[in-house]
Amino acid sequence: MNAQQRLIAALQADGYGPRLMRDEPMSAHTSFQVGGPADVMIRAQKLDELVAWVRLARAQGVPCTVLGSGTNVLVSDAGIRGLVILNECSAYAIDGSGRVTVESGVLLRELARHTVEQGWEGLEWAVGIPGTIGGAVVGNAGAYGGYMADIVQEAALLTPEGQVQRVGLAALGFGYRTSALKRADPNGDRPIVLEAVLQLRPGDAGELAARAEQVTQQRQARTPEGACAGSMFLRTEHYPAGFLIEQAGLKGLTVGGAQVSPKHANFVMNCGGATAQDIARLIEIVQEQVWRELGQRLHPEIEFVGEWPPSPQGDAIPTEGRG
Ligand SMILES: Cc1cc2nc3c(=O)[nH]c(=O)nc-3n(C[C@H](O)[C@H](O)[C@H](O)COP(=O)(O)OP(=O)(O)OC[C@H]3O[C@@H](n4cnc5c(N)ncnc54)[C@H](O)[C@@H]3O)c2cc1C
Repeated sequence: MNAQQRLIAALQADGYGPRLMRDEPMSAHTSFQVGGPADVMIRAQKLDELVAWVRLARAQGVPCTVLGSGTNVLVSDAGIRGLVILNECSAYAIDGSGRVTVESGVLLRELARHTVEQGWEGLEWAVGIPGTIGGAVVGNAGAYGGYMADIVQEAALLTPEGQVQRVGLAALGFGYRTSALKRADPNGDRPIVLEAVLQLRPGDAGELAARAEQVTQQRQARTPEGACAGSMFLRTEHYPAGFLIEQAGLKGLTVGGAQVSPKHANFVMNCGGATAQDIARLIEIVQEQVWRELGQRLHPEIEFVGEWPPSPQGDAIPTEGRG
């Protein structure tokens, strides 16, 4: 029996057999709608399940990937080896002072809608962002001037050593679309976000609803519809990535079924039938062209997950001189 078979046997022995999915296509679980099979997949609805399964996989030496809604990842066509846990732990509570204790599988936009309705200020910017709290903490999600870093007070993490640890804001190391968790070695066991504590402020429910509506309309006007992972590249020190891509004349550029959106140049769309390789190649071409034409380096905001050939996401840019 290999390590993965031992893991499956252990999960079956614990009664989880009926919940295991084998060779599950990741295209059904990512907003890009691409990605090959996950060897083994299971949905966690309770934090103790999530903790137990991550510990079990690590103890067996099986790679383990925790995903939220798959809205900020590009999963390879070869898929993901080992265990993939989809995080659906969705309990939260708000106390009388606006302190929100939220499990990491809660959907950010649902929490945002609820807190706006309840007259708690601090999440209006998030009403249109797909994905879970866990993904939002890892990537310090933000929009329209708001960031997770502004409201996160602490988080409960499962450490690479398998301990549950509460850490404060400083230890989360937030930066622009990043955190200490995202910077952790992608080939090692990264910390898993189990729960976050957010601090909101009392506000006027009517005013918050109006602000949320304004954000929704702005978002609808700017965001292309279809399969994508949101903004593809981080803004550079001086320019929004979409501006640079447009200046380089790349709007509408296509590789296979992948296209730089004609509506917003920082969105790469799966127009139907794209492979992960099409998208990865388009990302490389955009990076190369923007570097050649404008001397600006673009770095993806999304994470590359699964089995990829070495460095799909960046080595296309020459390190010296312009081509
Ligand atoms: C149409 C569209 C619009 C978007 N707009 C915005 C926007 O305005 N602002 C913005 O910031 N983002 C935006 N995004 C990107 C994305 O929605 C956010 O980054 C979101 O927070 C990702 O959450 P997720 O649950 O989907 O993460 P996933 O894509 O599932 O995971 C992202 C990474 O985090 C890791 N991860 C997930 N959960 C955990 C956990 N519990 N513990 C440890 N690691 C974990 C994963 O392993 C992966 O490496 C948009 C995406 C789309 C498709």
